[in-house]
Amino acid sequence: MVDAARRILREVFGYDSFRPLQQAVIDKLVTGQDALLLMPTGGGKSLCYQVPSLVREGTGIVVSPLIALMQDQVTTLRQAGVSAAFLNSSLSRSEAARTEQALLDGELDLLYMAPERLLQERTLQLLEQVRIALFAIDEAHCVSQWGHDFRPEYMQLHVLADRFPGVPRVALTATAEPRTQREIRERLALTDAELFISSFDRPNIRYAIRPGQGNVRDQLLRFIREEHPGEAGIVYCLARQRVDDIAAWLSSQGIPALPYHAGLDAQTRARHQQRFIREDSIVMVATIAFGMGIDKPDVRFVAHLNLPKSIEAYYQETGRAGRDGLPSDALMFYGLQDAIAIGQMLAASEAAEAHKRSEHHRLQAMLALCEMSGCRRQALLGWFGERLEKPCGNCDNCLSPPETWDATVAARKALSCVHRTGQRFGVNYLVQVLTGRDDARIRGFGHDRLSTFGIGTDLGPAEWRSVFRQLIGLGLLTVDVDGHGSLRLHERCRPLLRGEQALELRRDALPSRRDRRSSPRTTAPAAGLTDPADQLLFENLRRQRRVLAEQQGVPPYVIFHDATLVEMVRRRPATTQALSAISGVGERRLAAYGEAFLAVINEMSDSNAT
Ligand code: ADP
Ligand code: ZN
Repeated sequence: MVDAARRILREVFGYDSFRPLQQAVIDKLVTGQDALLLMPTGGGKSLCYQVPSLVREGTGIVVSPLIALMQDQVTTLRQAGVSAAFLNSSLSRSEAARTEQALLDGELDLLYMAPERLLQERTLQLLEQVRIALFAIDEAHCVSQWGHDFRPEYMQLHVLADRFPGVPRVALTATAEPRTQREIRERLALTDAELFISSFDRPNIRYAIRPGQGNVRDQLLRFIREEHPGEAGIVYCLARQRVDDIAAWLSSQGIPALPYHAGLDAQTRARHQQRFIREDSIVMVATIAFGMGIDKPDVRFVAHLNLPKSIEAYYQETGRAGRDGLPSDALMFYGLQDAIAIGQMLAASEAAEAHKRSEHHRLQAMLALCEMSGCRRQALLGWFGERLEKPCGNCDNCLSPPETWDATVAARKALSCVHRTGQRFGVNYLVQVLTGRDDARIRGFGHDRLSTFGIGTDLGPAEWRSVFRQLIGLGLLTVDVDGHGSLRLHERCRPLLRGEQALELRRDALPSRRDRRSSPRTTAPAAGLTDPADQLLFENLRRQRRVLAEQQGVPPYVIFHDATLVEMVRRRPATTQALSAISGVGERRLAAYGEAFLAVINEMSDSNAT
């Protein structure tokens, strides 16, 4: 059995070894038992049901909530020579009938369908007539009524246990919360399924968070030009207007950028999404409405121009970068006004008090992540209950540890200013009082006569704002969103105010200061190819891939991943046999594309030799 799985991994998918947990889950299913698999995006969940579907007799049935995802997977599988199909509302009646006949004739290895389709009595009866290898329930967190992705039909999927006894079932999700986990077990009748949880770390993603001061637009442009020229990325903004502005501006600067938000008509949205998927280097500027159900593996960066509303949201959104495992960036710019805006939206919502409280708690944790000076990855994973023993070495704070300063006195001044002005004012006002601004409003309140008036002239307004942000991030101050962002003291600040505690704060780098990281690059820098000849070969291979993809009307990445092209560059295979040893080159792809790519490699070697 194990041998059969390995052979399929090598021959069909072109990979040499399983990733952690893949082997164990596959064994489980191949021997006819159930499993529940929690693995982050890009972890390699699909192979866990695709391989056993090929090893076992019969057809593997995959339940998937999104049509786009089904199509993507089926296209990719067919490229690998697997007989895969889907049944959904995008098919005409006759196409659907043909697919059903193929199923009845035992011709399909894998069949994808939406839950509502599967649950129709007609479909269930159809499936009862054929041999089923397994059921895979993808995006299984859709059973959770608490989640954002709740799909009522998922609740009915437990019928599979009764109607198909003895057929192994696996539920898969990238959501790790214990509550969701319990719900999946109960609602899908998977009480005895063995649980497999992989690490949620995405080591190839480099996290960086900067205060959004100075000209964020320019900083974003510099980041794209220097770190990701010619590469695909997503830029998230909160407001539609901002999306349009940033997309237009990036385009005017020569970056191929497109907007995506709910205010655009469906046709435009579909066209932009299609271009993002089909082309190699589109930057999509989007509200968070974009990204769900997009499996593009070579998204090289995700940039946030606003604070996400929770660490869960941040992790999900940044997780869209680097599914292929190559180095990728997650860069966020944020400001306190984002936190206030999100808080106000929460306060104004109709949700129950308990829900609002928990959302505020999440927002606060997000702020703390922004303001911390330690390893961001340790904090992120810690939030999901996972311990990372050592600092990661691949986040901004690890790569260039922030300078800190003794802010005990400054913090005490700031806190007492909040106290003396009656906990009724926002950051800007407080900074004006501290720096002793001559202002009619301050005189009107009599705050120019306070002991804290003008005691902070040793720091500039930007530095004071940084102090306030960090005090909020540390939870010593809270933002009262009902009171339009006025700051209140939290219990926790007492020891500091009483002089029983010292406080170190981060010195925020000026926006103009360059990161200490890599030197600027000029051409597509995928996976750190630094040699110009390597970069050129990579570009030529990408061009070949684009031509082949366009001929078939499929996304380039279903032909070969960037990671596979990079390996071709590194190993320069000269023969079909050498090419077949490259990760991601299975038998079908070798037969279909081997010569085309070998020609590109050999052409460059020839021109080098002469
Ligand atoms: P998920 O569904 O968990 O988000 P995928 O199944 O799409 O992740 O896999 C992510 C990427 O990793 C895919 O491009 C896939 O081809 C690749 N991959 C999966 N398993 C392996 C493996 N054992 N070796 C090499 N690459 C793999
Ligand atoms: Zn780190």
